[in-house]
Amino acid sequence: MPYEIDETHDPKLESWVESANDPETDFPIQNLPLFERRVDAVGGTFSSPCIRIGNFALDIMSYNSILCDDTREDENEHPIPPEDEEEFVSGFNVHDMLANGDPRQIRKKASWLLRRGNKLLQEHEFRDEILIPMEKIIADRPRIIGDYTDFYASVHHATNVGTMFRPDNPLLPNYKWIPVGYHGRASSVVASGTPIVRPSGQLSPAEEGGTPSFGPCKLLDYELELGMVVGRGNELGKPISVAEAEEHMLGVCLLNDWSARDMQKWEYVPLGPFLAKNFATSVSPYIVTMEALAPFRCPAYRRPEGDPSPLPHLFDERDQKLGGIDITLEVHLSSQQMREQGMKPIRLSKGSFKDMYWTLSQMLTHHASGGCNMQPGDLLGSGTVSGPLRENRGSLLELTWDGDPFSNPPKPLPGTQRTPIKLPTGEERKFLADGDEVILKGYCEREGFRRIGFGECRGIIEPAAVS
Ligand code: CA
Repeated sequence: MPYEIDETHDPKLESWVESANDPETDFPIQNLPLFERRVDAVGGTFSSPCIRIGNFALDIMSYNSILCDDTREDENEHPIPPEDEEEFVSGFNVHDMLANGDPRQIRKKASWLLRRGNKLLQEHEFRDEILIPMEKIIADRPRIIGDYTDFYASVHHATNVGTMFRPDNPLLPNYKWIPVGYHGRASSVVASGTPIVRPSGQLSPAEEGGTPSFGPCKLLDYELELGMVVGRGNELGKPISVAEAEEHMLGVCLLNDWSARDMQKWEYVPLGPFLAKNFATSVSPYIVTMEALAPFRCPAYRRPEGDPSPLPHLFDERDQKLGGIDITLEVHLSSQQMREQGMKPIRLSKGSFKDMYWTLSQMLTHHASGGCNMQPGDLLGSGTVSGPLRENRGSLLELTWDGDPFSNPPKPLPGTQRTPIKLPTGEERKFLADGDEVILKGYCEREGFRRIGFGECRGIIEPAAVS
């Protein structure tokens, strides 16, 4: 069960992979996220499923082909866990693994294999073919991603953005009843580190009733989000209940929903985001499993008095009690000038996923509630993660905005009035410039447990292809 804390979360657990015991690492033995490494071979590129441990990747297929037989023959000397079957997990990529195996066992087995004292792999003659240093491999975009949907689950983000455009009526009447979302574009979901070409498109007219123009986006932005990867799908026509939704989740990653605000403003009525969002979405390669997140669960967002309770099909007692996840999320930025002058990136914001109005279970349940069939590898973006404070705002659209709906009484709402962010070079930013690199980071900390992290999700803005 994804909520349960067991011996794999024991903070005292250490690995014989020494880099995993570094207190600073995102990838101790308590984490063990899945990822796919890119393998360039004769006949093309393929991916191989791996588990990240410290500064190494455990290659699952190599483990299966080299070690499984040994494991069985060597049963007395190195007892295998009772639930272990013939292979670590079957399949040639994560998609096959999800379809054929029980991905929930993967982390458990890896925890057993990699913990201090287990010599099976540590002393194996082919260890170096199974455990590969990260500097020798490329962590790719998870190839399992099929469809992509993006939600809008932070009430703080929705209120901020709504206030800019509809000061008297920031939240539309549906917001507190349904987790609002739209179907995105999976083909342009890219791995962290992939350069992001500034999109061109129709930009909103300067004045109401004016003529739009076509050209490079002038108001390019990022959105700090969490991506949830579906593990087990549902049949067409058979919804997923909130109570069972977590059983359908593989894990979560960092997600940057790059956004062209001047295109978005013009095109979003009446059918929602389109080209303003579909040019690129970056994801971190590591899928932190729901099991690894068990110690960091928290109650669902406490709705303020007067807000409606979710309708029965989106309400579950356990989800209300433990449906939140306390993941700290940060945005960092470095400009080209900063990098040239050897400056470190600066942090723009810091927030927590626990501030989201809707839980991941509610989003997944809502998505499938009409009968939509979710597939293994479907990616669900949470929507921009913003909290109640200015420093919690997960996009430049909000960070550089002058209006503050949380002051009391609310300030006048100047719409597009903006205060730029000052960079250490003296440069200013209201939105992203070419050469800017945006770095998302995420981690979980709780007293009595080992800190786990998500790695990074990076992207540098390149000049537009069409001017
Ligand atoms: Ca978004």
